[in-house]
This record gives sequence, structure tokens and C-alpha cells, in this order.
Amino acid sequence: MFKSKTITFPFIDYLKEPIVILKRDGSVIEANKTFLEFSKLGKKELIGKNSRDVMPLKVFAENITKCTFERIEVSEQITFGDHVLNATITPVIINGDLNFISIVFRDISAFVQLERMLLKRNKELGTINTLSGAFIASRDISSVFADLLEKVLIVSDFGIGWMVVKEGGTFVLKGMSGASLSLKRDIEKGELDFIYKGAIESGDPLYILESGEIERVEILKREGIMFFSGIPLRIGPETMGILILASRMEIKFDFDVAALFSLIGNNVSLIAEKIRLFQEAQRLAITDDLTGLYNVRYFYDILNKEIARAKRYNTPFSLMLFDIDDFKVVNDTYGHQAGDDILRTLASILKGISRQTDVAARYGGEEFIVILPSTTKQEALNLSERIREKVERHNHYIEGETVRISVSGGIATFPEDAGDSKSLLYAADMAMYEAKAMGKKQIRLYKGVHETSI
Ligand code: GH3
Ligand code: MG
Ligand code: MG
Repeated sequence: MFKSKTITFPFIDYLKEPIVILKRDGSVIEANKTFLEFSKLGKKELIGKNSRDVMPLKVFAENITKCTFERIEVSEQITFGDHVLNATITPVIINGDLNFISIVFRDISAFVQLERMLLKRNKELGTINTLSGAFIASRDISSVFADLLEKVLIVSDFGIGWMVVKEGGTFVLKGMSGASLSLKRDIEKGELDFIYKGAIESGDPLYILESGEIERVEILKREGIMFFSGIPLRIGPETMGILILASRMEIKFDFDVAALFSLIGNNVSLIAEKIRLFQEAQRLAITDDLTGLYNVRYFYDILNKEIARAKRYNTPFSLMLFDIDDFKVVNDTYGHQAGDDILRTLASILKGISRQTDVAARYGGEEFIVILPSTTKQEALNLSERIREKVERHNHYIEGETVRISVSGGIATFPEDAGDSKSLLYAADMAMYEAKAMGKKQIRLYKGVHETSI
């Protein structure tokens, strides 16, 4: 019969991997140097002991039994100290008898680490992909912030979120989800602006309110918010807005959450900047460079829409057309640059007097046109007289001289003067030429139809 105690395994010390040899009953016969080093056990503490009584072997007790009885090789993964190990438990069968069990360990920490990194990277890419999807999928640019926010809440698993963007010194709410209507109203009123300012001033990439601070903000307390964080959206040194993520539950803020916030912050900033550039490009496409008024292309577009609207609702609207008097003389006397300044000033007078719904455009070189929705001829006349007077009173300072200019204007009203855009423009033009013919510095109403209809 085979006597195991006479057997030695001198070769195992030459193997790099930790190896342990067990008897059928599970007791340790031999272990190589690498195993002793990594298990930090002395040979005496190990040899002869049952594997069920020593770490890390006792972890495999079940699989050692399985290997013994079923005579099959089994693998198991364990974490030992800082290492992740894969142990292969193999039955050594000689002449049909199970003689030993060998356990070979392989340190797979590096692979596990790599796998974790890949999984994390994969998750990050998924997050980025989901967020960018908001920009690509939104058909309407005005809803893109709301779409983006929805995606942020999906990837971050937060219940409440909103985004504010700085526009002309104030914070404008661009999307909100998960909060009550009353909180939304309070936010729109600017009640949390002081928090946004604090977040921006802190200069930190992430701003978290302590629970005591949340308690002191009545509207957050009322909403039942337990966790409140603000991620400033930065492009270079500029902060364009803030993304708020909040929850009605306590959130354990650990490294993973911080990493997620940073990932979301970076990507939302990039996307928000793209949205801004896109909106700016859209604005420029409809704006006149010199005056900042709408350009003529946009004007035609709106004029056609206004005609359709006026027909549908059976309401009148008016056009007023202005042309600067003797502008050529201004240019010839003071130069083209001074002429440009006057055009800009005139544009700001127009903008200042027109209503929010009016569409003021630069119609030609020194001609301006304004669409006045739901406005009768008489109302248009009153408004254009105010503009004409203001222009005449305005002092333009050019090279130490005070220069005054005047405008002539024509007014045409839909539908009484014309039934389509081309004839309406013609009518306004005719009225304006009449003003010129009658000595300039005045506004005329289109009378053509009335004269011919007599
Ligand atoms: P009227 O009273 O009959 O309108 O005389 P006017 O001199 O204003 O009319 P005219 O059409 O003869 O000249 C318009 C002038 O407007 C000619 C052009 O030099 C000037 N002008 C057109 N566009 C611009 C511009 O963008 N900048 C400047 N500075 N001048 C412009
Ligand atoms: Mg002209
Ligand atoms: Mg002119």
C-alpha cells in the first residue's frame, strides 16, 4: 500500500504559484515557499493540520469535500488580504485511487482590478451616452434642457433635480423634475439664488448643503429635502449655471457618488455649452449684425405667420416702415462710421418703444420696419409718432458736434390695406414715399385703397 508520509514533493518550491498538497482526509502534507509567504504561516503551523482549521484553506472546505467525493476539479475565487485569488482544487488519482488533493492558487488581483475598471468605464460611457442623447434626440431646442435633466436623474438615481442657467445676471430655470409646483414657483422667484451664488463663489466643483443648512431654508424643509447638492456648470473659468440634485432620502455621500457627480458635472457642462452655442447660432441667423434687430429674412418669416394668425383670429395688425431722412448727407458729412452709430442708436430707440410682441427689423440700409400684432391703424400711428418725435429729439454727438436726424414713416394695416404680405409691404412703402414727398419728418397712413375705391 502507498504510504503518503514517505512521499516528498521537492519540485513544488520551484513553482511560482502558491501550492498546497492535502491528503484524502483533508490534512496538509506539503506547501511550497510561496504559499507560506503569502499565507504568513510557518511550516510547523501548517503541516499535519486539517485544512478545515487553517486560513485561507478553510474557506474551501466545501469544495475540498466535493473534490474528494466526486473526484472532479473545482475552482473557487477568494479574497485574501489585498489579493483576489483563484484556487484550483484538483484530485490526484493514481491507479484509480485518490491519493492527494492539490490546491494551486493564482493571484488574479490585476485581472479583477482591470475588470472593475472596465465595468466602471462602461458605466461612465453609458452615462455620457445617455446624457449626450438628450441633445441629439431633442427635436425642439427649447426642451433640450428639460430632456437633459430627465437623463441626469435616470443615470444618477436622484428623485429631484433642476438646472439654472445664468442669463444677464439672473438665474433662469431651464428644467425641473420631481419637485412640487410650489417649490418650482419659489425657485422661479429667485428664492434660492443665494445658494447658487454661494455655490459659484465657493469655487468648488461640488457644493453640498449640510442637513442643518437645509433645515434653515424654509422652502427646502417644506419639500422634505434631506440631501441637497449643487454642481456648478463650468466652461473654462466661466460658470454658466448650476445643476441641482436633491433627494427626499438621506444619501450616503461616498467616493462613488462623488465620482458620478464629477462625471455628470463635466458632461452636462459640455452639453449645456453646446446648447448655448447652438442657440447663439440660431439667434445670429435671424439678427442684423450692425443693429442687433431682426434681419429681413426673419421679418418675412414672421410677417407671413402674422398674416396667417390675423386671418385665423380675424384681428388686424399693422406695419410701420421708417426711413432716415437725408442719411446720405449724414454719411457724406460725418463719415460712414458715424452713420453706423446713428443706425445703432435708432435701433435702440425702436427697441425701447416697441412692445415685447412687436417685431422690429432692419429692412434695408437705413430703413426699419416693425410688425405690430393686434394693432389698428390709429394705434400704429400713435406709436410711430412717438418714435418719430423721440428720434428727432435725440442728440447724436459726433466729433464734438451735436447732430440731429429725422425719419419719415409709412403705415399699412392688414387686412384693410392689403390681403397679402407683398401688397402690404407695397402699401407701407407707398405711405412712406408720400411722407417723403410731403417734406419728410412725418408719418403717413396708406390711403391708396380708399382713393381708388371711391
Ligand atoms: P431720403 O431722405 O430720401 O431717404 O434721403 P437719403 O439720403 O436717406 O436716401 P438715399 O436712399 O439716397 O440714401 C440712403 C443712404 O443710406 C445711402 C447709404 O450710404 C446709407 N446707408 C445705407 N446703409 C448704410 C449703413 O449700413 N451704414 C451707413 N453708415 N450708411 C448706410
Ligand atoms: Mg432709403
Ligand atoms: Mg433715407
